[in-house]
Amino acid sequence: MSKGTINVSVENIFPLIKKFLYSDHEIFLRELISNATDATVKLKHLTSIGEAKVEYGNPIIEIKIDKENKRLHIIDQGIGMTSDEIEKYINEIAFSGAEEFIEKYKDDKGDDKGIIGHFGLGFYSAFMVAERVEIISKSFKEEPAVHWECDGSPEYAIKESDRTERGTEIILHIAEDSTEFLEEARITELLTKYNKFMPIPIKFGMRTETLAKPEGAKEEDPAPTEEVDNFINNPSPAWTKQPSDLNPDDYKSFYRELYPMQFEDPLFNIHLNVDYPFNLTGILYFPKMTNDINGQKDKIQLYQNQVFVTDNVEGIVPEFLTMLRGVIDSPDIPLNVSRSYLQADGAVKKISSYITRKVADKLKSLFNNNREDFEKKWNDIKIVIEYGMLSEEKFFDKAQAFALFPTVDDTYFTLEELKEKIKATQTDKDDKLVVLYASNKDEQHSYIDAAKEKGYEVLFLDSPIVSHLIQKIETSEENISFVRVDGDHIDNLIKKDEEQISKLNDEEKESLKTMLTEIIPQEKFSVQLEAMDSKANPFIITQPEFMRRMKEMQQSGGGGGMFGMGNMPDMYNLIVNTNNELIGEILNTKTQKKKERLVQQALDLARLSQNLLKGEELTTFIKRSFEMIK
Ligand code: ADP
Repeated sequence: MSKGTINVSVENIFPLIKKFLYSDHEIFLRELISNATDATVKLKHLTSIGEAKVEYGNPIIEIKIDKENKRLHIIDQGIGMTSDEIEKYINEIAFSGAEEFIEKYKDDKGDDKGIIGHFGLGFYSAFMVAERVEIISKSFKEEPAVHWECDGSPEYAIKESDRTERGTEIILHIAEDSTEFLEEARITELLTKYNKFMPIPIKFGMRTETLAKPEGAKEEDPAPTEEVDNFINNPSPAWTKQPSDLNPDDYKSFYRELYPMQFEDPLFNIHLNVDYPFNLTGILYFPKMTNDINGQKDKIQLYQNQVFVTDNVEGIVPEFLTMLRGVIDSPDIPLNVSRSYLQADGAVKKISSYITRKVADKLKSLFNNNREDFEKKWNDIKIVIEYGMLSEEKFFDKAQAFALFPTVDDTYFTLEELKEKIKATQTDKDDKLVVLYASNKDEQHSYIDAAKEKGYEVLFLDSPIVSHLIQKIETSEENISFVRVDGDHIDNLIKKDEEQISKLNDEEKESLKTMLTEIIPQEKFSVQLEAMDSKANPFIITQPEFMRRMKEMQQSGGGGGMFGMGNMPDMYNLIVNTNNELIGEILNTKTQKKKERLVQQALDLARLSQNLLKGEELTTFIKRSFEMIK
């Protein structure tokens, strides 16, 4: 038996290790199981090239809790370590690594610990939860087994051991403040979180399996059971396989494995697989999406060589794709750096643009291969696509091939198709294409109806970010303008072949205008007289597209802010159709009181069709209406 002092400059590294990232103590188990896995994978490699002359067999890793003695065991059947190797790897290299790490980060008070915290300390992270650690190891080489022990001071003891099976057993003597790690439920939780897809089978206790009843068994006989090893991981998850070896059901069942609480099937998946210029595998899923952007983030899991790292992929995956689900596995993502550094990292940038491109390609092929199906899914995926078009220039360009613009009657156009469809019928006086859209079929019903009556196409765009998106399209297309159906009266928006002739002469118009300005509140409505189709409503309320859009953009964040319109009161246009019969009748009404009542009534009806009549004004309107039908 020999003793030694680990050569460290920091007087005692262990209190530091303990303090370091308090909330992340649980990563010790992931670190130790990763070491056990590496040791096993190395052995496999050495036997396959004939360097290790031993039977590889079917090695497993076992985790055992010994509650009585307050111990946690991590046992592998890997290459093991000789006494020299423990000296070298554990006392020198691992220690200096841990020391360097602590030196670097002990003063780091930054809020950027997110990613750094996922970087393991390796073997020494065991001291975050243990007051004493033992290693018993037998190398695959013909050498006696070793027993190493350290109690958290820089002193360690090393002696021969009588262990005969190849591999390494790590024994943690769990500290008083870490007894949670002696609870079966807590360990199960950690194993499922970090090790669910690690490549070597991990055994944790036993479980009871129900067997089939023997033939001729009675109804009331209980089914026989059997105690079997409880393996907690799936060593070859779908993303590690070739896409050609998987069928649609494999992808679906893997989705269920990832999200056991998710009952709805994903809409489709994208298999990622590159090995140059960086290494990345993974599967991304498009789930059914709602219009709530923020509630759907942080579902993608990041792995490094099948070890779970984090479910916050911010900075690695473009923001708009964080709404997807699935797995990304890459050894090339640096984890010991802050997020801001991560975003500037060249490899990470390439990964991010690769993922964007793959997603765009997949969407395009889905669209091309089965447009009908793609249209059916559109409503559930549009938020991601629209958000992507807004935030990533390259995606915007690619999305021209598959981004859809549905009409209120569920016809789906691409932008090109839409332009083609309306180019002869929907242009304004400057020959710009006018794209009419509605954001709410119920609220804008009368306006949609009026537009359809004239044979115009009306899109149905209801995403929360639609005002930003159409703004962007207008900028990139130049010759197109989007107007919500209630943005102005149709006849003012779209150029007509023949002009309407006004039924009123100038004098009548003048007196109508004077009368209306007396009755109608000027601070809310700007009155415009228009000679329109006599069948169009007499009073029509609209809100200029520009104003409304700026306000919306401000409310949904970003854009439009410079116009400072957030606090402006809502201002509407009141378009009076001088050719409607009712206007003539109002003009010819004898008493002023009656005139006022008619104008009020017509105004209220116009407000009602814009959903603007509420509270006391609505009550007054209803009372007046009953009076009038008496
Ligand atoms: P890292 O794994 O990052 O190299 P660690 O501190 O976790 O750093 O481990 C240091 C070294 O100790 C490993 O590289 C490996 O050589 C050796 N080692 C640790 N655990 C085991 C194990 N279970 N079996 C064999 N060797 C091990």
